[in-house]
Amino acid sequence: MTDWKEECGVFGVYSTARNVAELTYHGLFALQHRGQESCGIAVTDGAWMDVSRGMGLVNEVFRHQIPFMEGQKIAIGHVRYSTTGSSLMANTQPLLVNYAGGKIALAHNGNLTNAAAIRRDLEEQGTIFQTSIDSEVFVNLIARSRKDTIEEKILDSLKKIRGAYCLTIMTEDKLIGVRDPQGFRPLCIGKSSGEFGEAFVVASESCALDVVDAEFVRDVEPGEMVIIDGNGLKSVKFATGEKRAACIFEYIYFARPDSVIDGQSVHNARFMMGRMLAKESGFRGDIVISVPDSGNTAASGFACEAGIPYVDGLMKNRYIGRTFIQPTQKQRKTAVKMKLNPIRASVAGKSVIIVDDSIVRGTTSGKIVKMLRNAGAKSVHMCISSPPITHPCYYGIDTSVRKELIAATKSVEEIREFIGADSLHFLSLEGLKKCTGAIDPEDMCYACFNGGYPVANENADKYVFEQQKC
Ligand code: AMP
Repeated sequence: MTDWKEECGVFGVYSTARNVAELTYHGLFALQHRGQESCGIAVTDGAWMDVSRGMGLVNEVFRHQIPFMEGQKIAIGHVRYSTTGSSLMANTQPLLVNYAGGKIALAHNGNLTNAAAIRRDLEEQGTIFQTSIDSEVFVNLIARSRKDTIEEKILDSLKKIRGAYCLTIMTEDKLIGVRDPQGFRPLCIGKSSGEFGEAFVVASESCALDVVDAEFVRDVEPGEMVIIDGNGLKSVKFATGEKRAACIFEYIYFARPDSVIDGQSVHNARFMMGRMLAKESGFRGDIVISVPDSGNTAASGFACEAGIPYVDGLMKNRYIGRTFIQPTQKQRKTAVKMKLNPIRASVAGKSVIIVDDSIVRGTTSGKIVKMLRNAGAKSVHMCISSPPITHPCYYGIDTSVRKELIAATKSVEEIREFIGADSLHFLSLEGLKKCTGAIDPEDMCYACFNGGYPVANENADKYVFEQQKC
């Protein structure tokens, strides 16, 4: 399996009535799919600020206790995959720093495309960095800004930064949410009132609002900063007129189907991709099965469009995390087997259409085709609900290097041969663009499929900071 990892999830809550640390724990739990390497929660009561972080899943790190302090009123949280920097304790978030203006905690989802240059400049001026993640440049820029208020300091810092960022920032008395001018990654606002007490929530995905009984209010707009404090919510637009570039891969694979991002239901987009794939491929077989769980929604769309029964063909072991969490190639290889097992009774003697969301290096598909054949499938037709991935992502999805992407060097027919399927079909880019109806297709980023990068990458690679330090 691959090193292809998505970035992170962020969460923040402001409430004088509810236990914000506990709400953050629940919010992070709902965002666990966005990162399983490490997580953390930072809390403040208005004077004191504390952070608790660790390696592992949310329920592992906070098995025994959720950070708690009397009178707590703001908390932010983070779940992480390593898109920049290694999977190390030092790189866990939220970051918490003391500076001349007080304390701030910060959690970042995304990937900055000019962090290396900013860091070099800051280091030349004597700044010491304690992590190897790009997110640390934010706190240093904020701390060094000569502006008066925290809002101005953040805006001052953002002027220097390019790339993908959704932030939750906490001061002793404010919760701040920021979304980059292109809106690469999702960020939404929720609010709860009534029997549970008032709370404002900022989260990567709307599924994290549901779990804390917060009503969806709206998305944070690209280029917007929202400030929540005792006076309610205030909005500052710091970038207007920039071309939007929301990540299409959130809809294809990453976000949870029960989330709605920028007005578009993830489930509906994914279902539509499956329908479109059935139309385009024209494949017909005895059954449609999915690669669980990421292929489920598209597979059901495919089956619905083609009028072919959708059955369970692969059993997923629910107790294993996403296979990509395994850090070495050897661990990843055994992980596919540990994770998936064919249901012989479903597939034996059948012409099987199998739907997955993407092929990255081709490792997973090849193994699955083999499994299905061993289980007696008559023929295996692989249908992928996204186009071939030919270019790495610089905005938060860890595609490692281009030469590892199978579609960067092989044709569809060569990939088919490599994975051993009887046939292979990818959704076309044109077809994909028709699947997110609530959003103008021109407002999305498709760089991993066509190399059309909306913001130039100025960094070398994800270990750039570690290499500098060696
Ligand atoms: P590969 O085996 O390298 O071709 O990877 C394809 C599999 O990876 C598919 O089953 C996808 O669901 C899954 N996948 C796609 N994108 C990601 C990602 N960013 N992180 C983890 N898994 C992914």
